[in-house]
Amino acid sequence: MIIVLKPGVSDEDLNNFKAYIEKFGVKVDRSQGENQTVLGLVGDTTVINDDAIKANRLVEKVMRVQEPYKRANRMFHPLDTILDFDINGRKSKIGGGSFAVIAGPCSVESREQLISVANDVKKAGAMFLRGGAFKPRTSPYSFQGMGCQGLDILVEAKKQCGLPIVTELMEFNQLELFEDVDMIQVGARNMQNFNLLKELGRCRKPVLLKRGMASTMTELLMAAEYIMAGGNDKIVLCERGIRGFDTFSRNILDLAIIPALKKKTHLPVIIDPSHATGYSWMVSSMSKAALAAGADGLMIEVHNDPEHALCDGEQSLTPDAFASLIEVLRKYAAIEGKVI
Ligand code: PEP
Ligand code: MN
Repeated sequence: MIIVLKPGVSDEDLNNFKAYIEKFGVKVDRSQGENQTVLGLVGDTTVINDDAIKANRLVEKVMRVQEPYKRANRMFHPLDTILDFDINGRKSKIGGGSFAVIAGPCSVESREQLISVANDVKKAGAMFLRGGAFKPRTSPYSFQGMGCQGLDILVEAKKQCGLPIVTELMEFNQLELFEDVDMIQVGARNMQNFNLLKELGRCRKPVLLKRGMASTMTELLMAAEYIMAGGNDKIVLCERGIRGFDTFSRNILDLAIIPALKKKTHLPVIIDPSHATGYSWMVSSMSKAALAAGADGLMIEVHNDPEHALCDGEQSLTPDAFASLIEVLRKYAAIEGKVI
């Protein structure tokens, strides 16, 4: 249930009204817009009589929320969520007119590889560095990532180049190892790992939540809701392609989910054209399309030697190709009123 208050309600009136609503046993989330205060009620609201609330002098309107996700719902929080990062005074953000580009290799393979890619993508204009240390691989015989050593290398790269780092957490009991990580990725395979989501709800770090390869938009939003229900509202949603029947691309990039998510949620939405297509030659066109469709950013795989990459080389851009893409995207971003 959503209660929109009339403009100019005093703090005292608001607190009394909130206390009155809480007596029904529901939690009240307050969202303060420029001219509007919205109260979002979470819990069993069937015990609340809409007409009685509507009759209150402070109330402008009352709406029932049909969707099962509440805190992630735009009705609860009409303004876009913006995530702010600050690495030693170097500021960056996701959402709010910034087109955030996250770039780096699929996996951390060595110190030299990661530092070299980090410097290249930073020079080209990336705002975040990605790299997997713990890799979810289909085959147990494939490279599984460098683990803790990979995390140390990422942290060193962050110190050297000043970019915030994004990397995947697979096990909820490994969270303490991620202290110096700036944004924790939940991979497609773990989107419905509810224990992991609950643990991330308890922590206060930004989470990059990737859509499961056969998950609906509602399931993605319910996964975000799990994290938000625990008190962590710093979430970025990432579309990375879903399973289809055709084999010309690795997955089907569902760009239509961008306007759909923008309508339903206040959380930022980014696109991963690398995993979505599986081929580096498709990454540029899909990146431009994502920007035009209203995405808040991109996550792109970049490797200094894609031919010899230990993971996902075929879909990885070279640093030069990435730099050329950013040049073009800057022009597109200007048309969309966004900044890279
Ligand atoms: C990744 O980003 O490295 C990754 C494994 O992605 P996904 O979970 O989308 O497959
Ligand atoms: Mn990958």
